[in-house]
Amino acid sequence: MSTLLITGANRGLGLEFAQRYQDDGWRILALCRNHSDELRALEAVGNVRVLLGDLSDGTCLQKFASELSGEHIDVLINNAGVMGDSNFHQGGGERQSLVDFDRDEWRKVFEINLFTPVQVISLFSEHLSDNAKVVTISSDMGSISGNQSGGWFAYRASKAAVNSLMKSVAISLTKRGIPAVALHPGWVRTEMGGPDAHIDTETSVKGMMKIINNLSMQQSGGFFAYDGSVLPY
Ligand code: NAP
Repeated sequence: MSTLLITGANRGLGLEFAQRYQDDGWRILALCRNHSDELRALEAVGNVRVLLGDLSDGTCLQKFASELSGEHIDVLINNAGVMGDSNFHQGGGERQSLVDFDRDEWRKVFEINLFTPVQVISLFSEHLSDNAKVVTISSDMGSISGNQSGGWFAYRASKAAVNSLMKSVAISLTKRGIPAVALHPGWVRTEMGGPDAHIDTETSVKGMMKIINNLSMQQSGGFFAYDGSVLPY
């Protein structure tokens, strides 16, 4: 049985990924801070293991890695992320601007959007099977050349940094034949994306799963949107 390891699977895009991979007959290793009724429902169906803890805590991630020793992973998805203390649609981002700099806000965003993906890949790279794929859910807001509107300094910088990370990870994993990419899910109706976002989680995740399923070494190190289009760094 193929295995997915995913962070932040209790809601939003992470939950949709867990649900769809389970439907496809996969085993799910869900690393989450909070549980949810929806995730409990997947557990009840079977082949879902939930490990609970704050993923910004490096010690917690190390504990998860030792609990999962011996597990093989076929797809690893770094999904958990935050924009900051508030989300785009809530009019946040003030503490991520030139006029207001908040070091704690920046640290919180970088912890989960960058440091967690680095540590998760580092801790679990030896668990990756021969045909494995490594994915981080980034954002088009992390595209430096695509940035036309500014704002959200910390979120943009964290996603630009994680794109850079994924390029380096791709190079490191080339010798093992394992592709690694950054994906933009689109603007999606989740707690982060808000009610006015363009697409639902089903459309986004179906698109990203299609990319993941067909991922080749030629695409490794790339940055793609859920619809398969190539995004500029
Ligand atoms: P969401 O609905 O707000 O869900 C965020 C997930 O991340 C939740 O499961 C949350 O867990 C988890 N998380 C955050 N901080 C965590 C921590 N310290 N430890 C453990 N889990 C933590 O957001 P989403 O829309 O599904 O976003 C998923 C990914 O897509 C993110 O990386 C985001 O940047 C990216 N993205 C989303 C959009 C969009 O339009 N929605 C656009 C571009 C990129 P809790 O329930 O415990 O908070």
